[in-house]
Amino acid sequence: MGEYLTNPADAQAAMKKVMEKAHHAVFFGGAGVSTASGIPDFRSPNGLYNQRGYKYPPEEMLSHSFYMTHREEFFDFYRHVMCVPSAKPNQCHRKLAELEQEGKLDCVITQNIDGLHQAAGSRHVIELHGSTHRNICQKCGAVYSEEWILDTEGVPKCPKCGGDVKPDVVLYEESLKEENLIGAVKAIQKADVLIIGGTSLVVYPAAGLVDYFQGDTLVVCNLEAGPRDSAADLICACDIAKTFDF
Ligand code: ZN
Repeated sequence: MGEYLTNPADAQAAMKKVMEKAHHAVFFGGAGVSTASGIPDFRSPNGLYNQRGYKYPPEEMLSHSFYMTHREEFFDFYRHVMCVPSAKPNQCHRKLAELEQEGKLDCVITQNIDGLHQAAGSRHVIELHGSTHRNICQKCGAVYSEEWILDTEGVPKCPKCGGDVKPDVVLYEESLKEENLIGAVKAIQKADVLIIGGTSLVVYPAAGLVDYFQGDTLVVCNLEAGPRDSAADLICACDIAKTFDF
């Protein structure tokens, strides 16, 4: 087991040291990166999901079969819970964009769908679960923004051809895009530093992807300890936005 740090100042210093030596770092991020930007976990008791009193559990409402059979309710949930137009990048997003520009970080792989890495200036982002910022006409392929979806009501239809507009978000029962998985594996295989942030090493696909890492330094930035932390050289168990404030 590597160094285990809970003090933000220590975590900052340790992360700074790791990144000074990095040439091909990869950041793999989960929900914790977004919650630091005020994007609520929809499962939380105070979250919008609970406030709006939906009749179905969130996992069901985010499934492919629910999209096929309850489209009106699906889009109500999507507009009110999944799209968070007020969210802004935090220091973790900003620092990662900066490290990419400096040539230290190759790419960000994220499970989040909020587009905040791109908003912060990151260019090479692999969005494993898609993005609410792309909504695609299933008939003609036209792409619509999150703002466009938020301005529509009921079941959105493509203004160009009348086709169904489906969020470019991987729903439950749907598989991850192969090109994204291949891209993630390639980046991790080439990485000298792998940082797992805002997710534990137990959750799929983080758990499986870590096995492709052959580099020197594995860092975990997560508030809660995970059973596979023993594989990490450095564990920063504090607010991720503070850890990246160097
Ligand atoms: Zn269309």
